[in-house]
Amino acid sequence: SDTDTETDAHTPSLRTPIVAVLGHVDHGKTSLLDKVRGSAVIEGEAGAITQHIGATAVPLEVISEIAGDLVEPDDFDLPGLLFIDTPGHHSFTTLRSRGGALADIAILVVDVNDGFQPQTREALEILQRSETPFIVAANKVDTVPGWNANEDTPIQSTYDQQSERVQGAVDTALYEIIGQLSEAGFSADLYWRVQNFQRNVGVVPVSAMTGEGVPDLLAVMMGLSQRYMKAEMEIDVAGPGVGTVLEVKEEKGFGTTIDTVLYDGTIRADDRLVVGGTNDPIVTDVRALLQPRPLAEIRTESRFERVDEVSAASGIKIAAPDLGDAMAGAPVRVVRDRPVEDVIAEVRAELADIAVDTADEG
Ligand code: GDP
Repeated sequence: SDTDTETDAHTPSLRTPIVAVLGHVDHGKTSLLDKVRGSAVIEGEAGAITQHIGATAVPLEVISEIAGDLVEPDDFDLPGLLFIDTPGHHSFTTLRSRGGALADIAILVVDVNDGFQPQTREALEILQRSETPFIVAANKVDTVPGWNANEDTPIQSTYDQQSERVQGAVDTALYEIIGQLSEAGFSADLYWRVQNFQRNVGVVPVSAMTGEGVPDLLAVMMGLSQRYMKAEMEIDVAGPGVGTVLEVKEEKGFGTTIDTVLYDGTIRADDRLVVGGTNDPIVTDVRALLQPRPLAEIRTESRFERVDEVSAASGIKIAAPDLGDAMAGAPVRVVRDRPVEDVIAEVRAELADIAVDTADEG
């Protein structure tokens, strides 16, 4: 029947999965993020991709345009993917949510010629410990000697157009990576052979330079999220916002601000917040919610524009008094209609979890 009684209290909604990019230095994490953003800007209609504070939202329609036949939008009800802009495992380990990783899903970038390197192994250990599902982007396929690039195409069609010698070299490099994953305890295979992404790690050959394989990468991330993470993406979108501090920053005209990734609920410009700090949790009132202003307008205006509210999942800059003690990785919770003591207790408990995890790592 068609009644509104339940939605009065709760507004169930599916949020965007949060994606982190990890891997050894110089294996192409930044380039890959730039390529995804670049492709999304070209493919999407104006405004379809939104630059958040510290993150980039790529909506399902844009993913489906980039991925072509690989993504049929009707097969999905998750709204897209939110990529954290700062790659690397430092940000990954700092960014936590309710005892787990803030990122719902990760891309481990491995240079197809360079294979496993120390930070690749470190990243794998971190992903394993936090039980974060991930796929491997075997990057820089275009650097295999003799490779003929077909820009922005799915990997299998461009692979089929390479010479037998090049195909052989690519196969060898990919199987080397699959072997190294297996030595590290992960059963892995080329992504199109993987039936169950919960049991096996999919390897996607890509080039952040030419865009080859990027359609596949996005399709696999979207498919994996839809298939295995949908339940975790169900949030009460109108509920009090919950997030994690990405970075604490001074901003001219705003004082200390916290760049925050919101992973549940909504935050409004008149909300009271509890934020984890180096000492006691900070209780403060939002002074402004800030988003990046579109590039074209920056010359005449401030870099930021004020918004009245923002819903998960998204990246937002929060200006508020007394944020001097706030720290990266700390929880942020909207109080709204609850005793502030309860929220302080929640934030304390989360901070204690973080302290325990940090001690484990040392
Ligand atoms: P990060 O340290 O992992 O973020 O690596 P970067 O994205 O900075 O890339 C390191 C270097 O590798 C840069 O010079 C990039 O231009 C280059 N690079 C990254 N991806 C590719 C690729 O797919 N093909 C080629 N040929 N070069 C790449």
